[in-house]
Formats: sequence, structure tokens, C-alpha cells
Amino acid sequence: MKEHKNILKDTHGRAHSYLRISLTERCNLRCSYCMPAEGVQLSPKGHLMSYEEIYEIAKTFVEHGVTKIRLTGGEPLVRKDISVILEKLASLSVELSITTNAVNVDRHIDTLKTNGIKTINVSLDSLNAEKFKHITRRDYFEKVYNNILLLNSEGFKVKVNVVLMKDFNDNEIIDFINLTKTLPLTIRFIEFMPFDGNKWDMAKMVSYKSIMETVYNAFPEDQVHRLQDAPNDTSKNYRIKGFQGSFAIISSVTNPFCDSCNRLRLTANGQLKNCLFSSTESDLLTSLRQGKSIEPIIQKAVLGKFKIRGSMNTLKKLQDPKLHSNNRSMISIGG
Ligand code: SAM
Ligand code: SF4
Repeated sequence: MKEHKNILKDTHGRAHSYLRISLTERCNLRCSYCMPAEGVQLSPKGHLMSYEEIYEIAKTFVEHGVTKIRLTGGEPLVRKDISVILEKLASLSVELSITTNAVNVDRHIDTLKTNGIKTINVSLDSLNAEKFKHITRRDYFEKVYNNILLLNSEGFKVKVNVVLMKDFNDNEIIDFINLTKTLPLTIRFIEFMPFDGNKWDMAKMVSYKSIMETVYNAFPEDQVHRLQDAPNDTSKNYRIKGFQGSFAIISSVTNPFCDSCNRLRLTANGQLKNCLFSSTESDLLTSLRQGKSIEPIIQKAVLGKFKIRGSMNTLKKLQDPKLHSNNRSMISIGG
């Protein structure tokens, strides 16, 4: 590790050891909170990172202290060279994980296992097939649900991401938690966040506070155990007494966890984002292709990181559509 440079430390004392790499802007679902119905402008193919470029950039980050890499997208499992990417990255000294909608998971079980993936985050926003179809604009509920069970039976630790929206799936909070009675899943309720083209409205968001009110209405208070969160965890974790799995809340809107943020994001077209909410990006791919060092660009990007949510440090700023439409749609950032 090149400790002498310390290029991953920002001006707020945060060391960045976690890189999320988006492998593609494409997806086999069309979740309305993630992308506009008409789709997003895709980068020309030649502007996307090849597997060799992904590896080269990731290696630089690992040399400077990154210990965890998560592959995301778009849908990472739609990339045809996903096996090669996993194999290359698994050769780095890093904890490798993936976030997927699970539509294609059954085809990749062996590759995921061989390359040391232990934890998989899967998105599933409803336990009702019709509602799933409505939110994803695709009819894959059975496939996704069965693939979650498959991952579980194959020994992966599965975290299920549920973006909650008022009057859409907030009546399923307890159904999701009840899944953890017999299945060792972690259900992670995510506050709906604003990105370009997702018609965000604060009124549609289900807050941490209201999720916990629903939980306490369904379970006696002494049965709801607050668990120890992992260091740099973005979620507040809970378990219902006697249940095998747990549930958690990711409250980026009402309760941001920026103080302990250790994340950086690399988009599929090789742009470094120092924050999910940042409207600026730093082009690593062009410099890599020109044979230049990408380290000074990384360092500058890290030093430019704002203390809270890419400078949207108040709820008022977060609600300003001008500010979040300067950002990309989630599908092309990589959540
Ligand atoms: N396709 C994969 C999937 O759906 O898991 C990976 C990419 S997706 C962009 C990563 C995560 O971002 C998903 O768990 C999704 O639910 C979350 N996400 C997307 N848009 C969001 C939004 N507006 N607010 C909160 N979470 C969002
Ligand atoms: Fe695709 Fe994931 Fe976005 Fe849904 S949340 S559209 S599955 S990238």
C-alpha cells in the first residue's frame, strides 16, 4: 500500500476505503425511482470502461488503501464480461461484493462463489407481483424472489434493499420484516432519495421515524432489539427477538451518515464521484487512456468532497430540484 501519499483522505478527516464501481448504465428493469420512463442517455460504448480499465483503476485505489469494492450499475449482471471482471478484481486484495436486481443471479451462482463473493445486496421493493411490475415496469417478481431464496440456500449473506414510498409499499414494512422470522436475510429500508428524472417529492418519502413507528405498532418495544452497527455502516440495524434475520434503515434524507462516510464512486464511463449527491465528477478514464497518472485527479476529487451530501446540507437544499437535477439519474451513478 502506498501509505506515503494518503490521497484518499479528505479535508474532513475521512479516509476512503470503499469504492463502488458501476459496470454499466444499462438495466433489465426500469425502476421508476431510479430512472425516467423514457430511459437515460447512454454513453457511447467506446466511452465505457473495459474490464482491463476497470481493473487498472481499481488496482490504483487498492494500492492507496481501498479494502472493499462493490460492483453495481445499472444492473452489473447484464455485462457480458462480468465473469472476467469478477475474476480480475478477485485477484486484488479486497473484499468484493455486488448489488443486483437478482433477475440473472441463477446464471451466475458459480462465478460469484468462485470469486469469493459472500454478501449480495438485492433490490426488491414489493412482495406483491403486481406492485413489483408497476414499480420496475417489468414482470420478474417470481424470478427475483426465487433467486433471493436460491442465494440464501447457496450460503450467501443476502441483504434486501427496499426503497419505501408512501402509499405504494409502506404497508409492506411488516410483511418484509416477517420474512426475517425464518430466513436469515437483512431487510434494508431505504429512504427515497432525489436524483435527476425520478420525480422525487419529499411527501413520497417514508422516513426513519415513521418506519420505526410502524414497527413499534406491530411489535412490543422490548422485542425490537437495536443491533450494533458495523463501522462506517450507512444503516441502523435491528432484530425482532427470536427472528433469524434482521432489518435496517438507511436514512440518507432525514438522518445523513456523512460523518463516517468512507465511499467513493466510479461510474461506468470512468468518472469519479466523491459523493452520491455530488454534481461534479472527475474524469479518470481519459487520463488512463492517455497513459497519465490518475492519482493527482483522485486526490483532487477527494479533497473537494463536501462535508454533507455533496453540499446539500439541509433538507431545504435537498428539496431544490435545480440542485438534484444537476446530478445524474441513479441508474447511471451506481447506487
Ligand atoms: N441494479 C442493481 C439493483 O437494483 O440492486 C444495482 C444498481 S441500483 C441503482 C442500486 C441501489 O440503488 C438499489 O438498491 C436501488 O434500490 C437504489 N436506488 C435507486 N434509486 C434510488 C432512490 N431514488 N432512492 C433510494 N435508493 C435508490
Ligand atoms: Fe435497474 Fe437497479 Fe435502477 Fe432498478 S434500481 S432500474 S434494477 S439499476
